[in-house]
Order: sequence, then C-alpha cells, then structure tokens
Amino acid sequence: MHEMALAGSIRDIIDEVAHAHGDRRVERVVLEIGELAAVEISALRFGLEVALKDSFGENAIIDIIAVAGSGWCMRCATTVALPRRDAACPQCGSYQIQPTAGTEMRVKELMLAAVNEAAVDDEAHERSDHV
Ligand SMILES: [Zn+2]
Repeated sequence: MHEMALAGSIRDIIDEVAHAHGDRRVERVVLEIGELAAVEISALRFGLEVALKDSFGENAIIDIIAVAGSGWCMRCATTVALPRRDAACPQCGSYQIQPTAGTEMRVKELMLAAVNEAAVDDEAHERSDHV
C-alpha cells in the first residue's frame, strides 16, 4: 500500500529533523496533500499511526491540509479546477488537461517540543513500561 510507504518517509523526515534539533520530540506535523496526489487520507493517517510508534513523532498531532487540484486545459488554453486526474474540463468537457497544481504531498511544518521537558519524558517512559 502506497500510503504506508509515504508514512515511512514522513517518519524519516520527522526523525531527521528531531535529531538535528537535539532529539526533541515532534508535537505537531502539518502535511500538505494535493487532491491529485492519489493519497487516501484515512489510509495515510492509519499508516502514520503505525510508522510513528517509537519515533520522535509518536503521539504527534497530524494536521492535513488539502491542496486543490488544477490543470491546464489545452482546448480552453486556461487553468481550470481539476478535482481528480481523470476529471473532464468543467468548461469544455475535454480530457486533455495537464495537471499543474495539487499533485504533490509535502511536510509543510514540524512543531518541536520545548527542549526541557524531562517530566513529560518520564511520563512517557512510565507509560511504555506498562504496555
Ligand atoms: Zn477546457
């Protein structure tokens, strides 16, 4: 499943950034996902839940921002809204549309926890000991 692979690469980015900032935990992750990126949001959320276990992003809040798709219609010679890759031009009905926006998925923002949070760390260890 392609969302699992995506979740894995998001985890890699999170761990890399967290490590580069003194092994701080990541509290919030903001993802931008284009309508044309062919990402199933619920599958991605599930994938992240699994992938972020035992990572710096465990228990992080995941915010997903949907980016509207659009494309260049050859017949109209203009940019039109494109909710799916196989959608027709809303103006002329043509299928000859070149996607121009909404095809990407990226990590827009990572919010790191404050440096000194020993209390929270202890709590986290305790919790995992009981599992
Ligand atoms: Zn058109």
